Amino acid sequence: MKKDLICIACPLGCRLTARWLNESAIEITGNRCPRGEEYGREEVVEPKRVVTATVRLKSGFLKRLPVTTKRPVPKDKIAALLNRLYTIELSAPVIRGEVVLDMADDGVQVLSSRTVKK
Ligand code: SF4
Repeated sequence: MKKDLICIACPLGCRLTARWLNESAIEITGNRCPRGEEYGREEVVEPKRVVTATVRLKSGFLKRLPVTTKRPVPKDKIAALLNRLYTIELSAPVIRGEVVLDMADDGVQVLSSRTVKK
């Protein structure tokens, strides 16, 4: 079995191929650097993405605060994370990099992407 991928670890976008040699061994080809092999392997075993979104904000000059996950999140947890973010309402002031949601059980932290004064 094989799967074609495009590496998103840098702007070159190398075309990767993941081939299953047996149940546990995966060969990655087409990468120009080790990051591509790491990306390809992770993408077929446990794909992850950095999640960006906005949350409601009161008492600030913005109505919504842009936020981002600190680290990439497993794709199968993204829907639950977004549902949780859409229920949150924060109050200004908020500082860029401040933790606005900590889902410790899942190892996910969401940070403010900008500073908003009161
Ligand atoms: S394999 Fe390396 S060079 Fe190619 S897109 Fe991925 S990170 Fe960039």
